[in-house]
Amino acid sequence: MRFTQLYAPTLKEAPADAEVISHKLMIRAGMIRKLTTGIYSYLPTGWRSINKVAQIVREEMNRANAQELHLPTVQPADLWQESGRWDFYGKELLRFKDRHNRDCCLGPTHEEVITDLIRGEVRSYKQLPLNLYQIQTKFRDEIRPRFGLMRGREFIMKDAYSFDVNDGAADKSYWAMFDAYQRIFTRLGLKFKAVEADSGSIGGSFSHEFMVLADTGEDTIVSCSACSYGANVERAEVKLRAEVKELKLPEAVSFVLTPNKFSVAEQAEHLGLATSDILKTLMCVADGKPVAFLVRGDRELNLVKAKNLLNVAVLDLMPTEMLSEFFGAMPGFVGVVNLEIPVYADLELQLKDGWIMGANRIDTHYCNVSLRRDVKVITYADLREIDINDPCPRCGAALEFPKGIEVGHVFKLGTKYSKALNANILDENGKEKPIIMGCYGIGVTRVVAACIEQNNDQYGISFPPAIAPYEIVVINLDVKSEEATKKSEEIYEMLKNKGFDVLLDDRNDRAGAKFKDADLMGMPIQIIIGSKALANNIIEVKDRSKYEKSELNAGSFELEFD
Ligand code: ATP
Ligand code: MG
Ligand code: MG
Ligand code: MG
Repeated sequence: MRFTQLYAPTLKEAPADAEVISHKLMIRAGMIRKLTTGIYSYLPTGWRSINKVAQIVREEMNRANAQELHLPTVQPADLWQESGRWDFYGKELLRFKDRHNRDCCLGPTHEEVITDLIRGEVRSYKQLPLNLYQIQTKFRDEIRPRFGLMRGREFIMKDAYSFDVNDGAADKSYWAMFDAYQRIFTRLGLKFKAVEADSGSIGGSFSHEFMVLADTGEDTIVSCSACSYGANVERAEVKLRAEVKELKLPEAVSFVLTPNKFSVAEQAEHLGLATSDILKTLMCVADGKPVAFLVRGDRELNLVKAKNLLNVAVLDLMPTEMLSEFFGAMPGFVGVVNLEIPVYADLELQLKDGWIMGANRIDTHYCNVSLRRDVKVITYADLREIDINDPCPRCGAALEFPKGIEVGHVFKLGTKYSKALNANILDENGKEKPIIMGCYGIGVTRVVAACIEQNNDQYGISFPPAIAPYEIVVINLDVKSEEATKKSEEIYEMLKNKGFDVLLDDRNDRAGAKFKDADLMGMPIQIIIGSKALANNIIEVKDRSKYEKSELNAGSFELEFD
């Protein structure tokens, strides 16, 4: 491709609404343009990158014996009513009526459609295993579409669905997809980690998210520094809840947190967490039941914010005498942590057989007192120790909490959709059974954005070769010079013949502008041809990722370049 013919309108400045780097750079590099909130046009270079991702995904899916098909975008409401998701899915599902007043929606995902497709036709275990996938535009009316292609309303997803005769076979299908995902993200040249996610009613390790590691990620990963253990925070919390259940926490509980010397916000800061992280963990342990926080009113602005977030009662610090009254009134009151305000003695009776939880480590003195009275103490620090901080649940090493971007998700569905939609088969013994399903998504457009979040510098994008719209740009610095132009054309043709995706910058423009565009657009290799250097038999080659130039002999360029 010649730059003079390329439609890639680059910009000096990013639009004001672009918050994250990938959004800014994709707009500036002329890869995408916004049509309206969360909906983007993919311009030629953007589309090339998207297709490169799609092609690698396709190759690895095919290698894993999945078969590509293409399902409709518009879906009838009846199917969603049959699965029960019409009422359940909420506002992310964009609904509308056709001219006959029939309810429809734009597909945010395709479990219903695919299950409908195979039911009745796949009748025997002999037709399984089966894995069908598509690469297609999805629509989700996200509450907060933002960050360009990272969280769009319209985006491209690869979604695959596996069908198996029994659990063992379904597990095999699951791990085959897991392996395919490892290959895909490795081939794409991304730093990523597969982390355990909550698999709901299925249980076990049958949901994994593939996270591209980037500081700007919306997700927090719990990751072991020594072994391969990783989980998303929600999963870690679910495990936490299970562990607390194991401790036989009473069913109906309300927690009262009285951060003593420090406010929750201050403690959060001390622990390097967001206030909402602490609150979420507490909520999680309380299993979604209301949590009351006893706070020092003046310092707790953040907590009040959190109140809106979590719908918890925020109470002011009250005198000791009032505490008992207040606790008495609270159904299922469990405990209070307050070490420095001298209310502890008053509370001993209340705490009998109870639980204490709070944001601070309780010192041994109080623990002893408490334990002697059959009071189990859990501190927030303990909770972090149980699950979120250092005992990696697998090997005991220290945990880290990097940020990540969810680019893929594999999930064992079990019989949720096959039961709801009556997708049954006859097994080896002629017995009718629901098919065991799995679903496997990759956010194809999000991958491109996530890749840029991971690979950029002050000059622009630095694409890994697998995702770059062009692998090489040949920059002709002097289009008016016969020698430079001849050499540029020669190298351009030679590289194309070798099978590279090459862009030739043949514009009659200043060198500075050409360098700026090349750096911004992120081609991994720049071949710089200027008449002065050429007179000295030199061609410069720049490695975009290292931002380093080397000089090659113009005469033997082809050999040296290899
Ligand atoms: P998220 O937690 O980010 O909302 P999700 O868990 O809802 O994602 P899935 O239903 O697992 O998403 O869909 C499969 C993949 O589709 C995700 O792993 C992600 O890469 C991609 N994806 C989901 N929502 C969006 C979106 N709004 N924009 C771009 N890609 C998306
Ligand atoms: Mg979502
Ligand atoms: Mg998710
Ligand atoms: Mg997901």
